Amino acid sequence: MPRRAIQQPPSDPNDGVRLKAEELREILSDLRRHLLWWEAQGARRIPRQAGVACGGSSPVHAPATTPEERPEENLHGRALEDVRRQLGECRRCKLAEGRKKLVFGVGNPDAEIVFVGEAPGAEEDRTGEPFVGAAGQLLDRMIAAMGFERGQVYICNVVKCRPPGNRDPEPGEIAACEPFLKAQIASISPKVIVGLGRFAVQCLLEDPSLALGSVRGKWKRYEGIDLMPTFHPANLLRNPAKKGAAWKDLKAVLARLGRQLP
Ligand code: SF4
Repeated sequence: MPRRAIQQPPSDPNDGVRLKAEELREILSDLRRHLLWWEAQGARRIPRQAGVACGGSSPVHAPATTPEERPEENLHGRALEDVRRQLGECRRCKLAEGRKKLVFGVGNPDAEIVFVGEAPGAEEDRTGEPFVGAAGQLLDRMIAAMGFERGQVYICNVVKCRPPGNRDPEPGEIAACEPFLKAQIASISPKVIVGLGRFAVQCLLEDPSLALGSVRGKWKRYEGIDLMPTFHPANLLRNPAKKGAAWKDLKAVLARLGRQLP
């Protein structure tokens, strides 16, 4: 749910106040998130006012209108456990319908590195912990090769509930969950984020058409924090020949942290 009020453009183009391209981009980005949030609520029309769909009187699940009903608006600067408390037994998107357990994230709340994957799979949905299947075991080995234990880093996903049949999360689901990912990362304030796989990297860089190959191994930024895009461990299990490239990316992360290879 967008947190910033949409600004009105100046009424008089000659009054010396002009929208800069960057501000316009921000407004459009807010508008897009707003529309995606509505989609996540199952709305197919945008209500003119809370509770009433456009062009009709059918009630829809309207967005919350008070600060108490929009806890995600108060997330910035919160401790990780507060963010988890605010998320609660979230039903902000339809992924809540099929999940067994919400998978928030695990690890050190003061971690130097946050690993961000796509979404929980079957095993994660069952246990409530991210990256616990075969791909998770490989991620643990990658973390150990970097000289860390799993509990020293932080691991989470873009969306916190398992999409049915492990399909890609939909834009509205990502938009509904995004404030919590942002709040998690802001709370931890890591030195480096490692984006695991195409989908997570597309979400973090807000570019759904991005090919992983075009950014993998190249430093990017997410919310002012260094981001290293690399392969998802599940991809590495299917394509072991890519492990060398992934290791190169992780060594670049260690160098950025000023750490030596163990
Ligand atoms: S995916 Fe995120 S927004 Fe959707 S129900 Fe789960 S926690 Fe809530």
